[in-house]
Amino acid sequence: MNKLQFNQTTVHVVKGDITRCEVDAIVNAANESLLGGGGVDGAIHRAAGPELLAACRLLNGCRTGEAKLTPGFRLKAAHVIHTVGPVWRGGTHGESELLASCYQKSLELAEANGIRTLAFPAVSTGIYGYPLEQATEIAVGTVQKYLENHPGSDISEITFVCFDDAAVHAYEQAFE
Ligand code: ADP
Repeated sequence: MNKLQFNQTTVHVVKGDITRCEVDAIVNAANESLLGGGGVDGAIHRAAGPELLAACRLLNGCRTGEAKLTPGFRLKAAHVIHTVGPVWRGGTHGESELLASCYQKSLELAEANGIRTLAFPAVSTGIYGYPLEQATEIAVGTVQKYLENHPGSDISEITFVCFDDAAVHAYEQAFE
């Protein structure tokens, strides 16, 4: 299964490059400094241009599990929601709660800012080492719980954007 429907919100998974997504906001898997890094963070900064780094400098960083908003600058997306996923340290250091918080806080920030279409990367599953299947279950489960708790949500579309087939497959499993 690669698509779910909750009331007026469609949740789906696609393979692609999140920096090219034409949505109201893309989510960045940032680090606590918000000053750029590797992986999807580096790709988003390159695509958005130097204005993004200047905007991030004004935010004084972001704690793990939290989320902050900037414009998208040269991206097609109007906004970037920067969230900081946990580094995987074996699973006994609050990683699952922190990762769920990334999705929850990103959704709350999107809703508060009138964002209707939102794309997430697989936060923490790259450099931060979170096991893919566990991370995608948390991503899908947290989005599902959010939408169940907000039946009047104005968010119409949530896309999980994957860089590779393994991640697509993991989301499809989590949708079942
Ligand atoms: P983290 O530090 O949170 O682990 P990474 O950027 O290393 O963040 O990886 C998070 C996920 O984003 C990984 O699954 C990686 O394959 C994926 N990714 C990297 N670049 C892109 C991109 N341009 N679009 C979508 N996903 C990406």
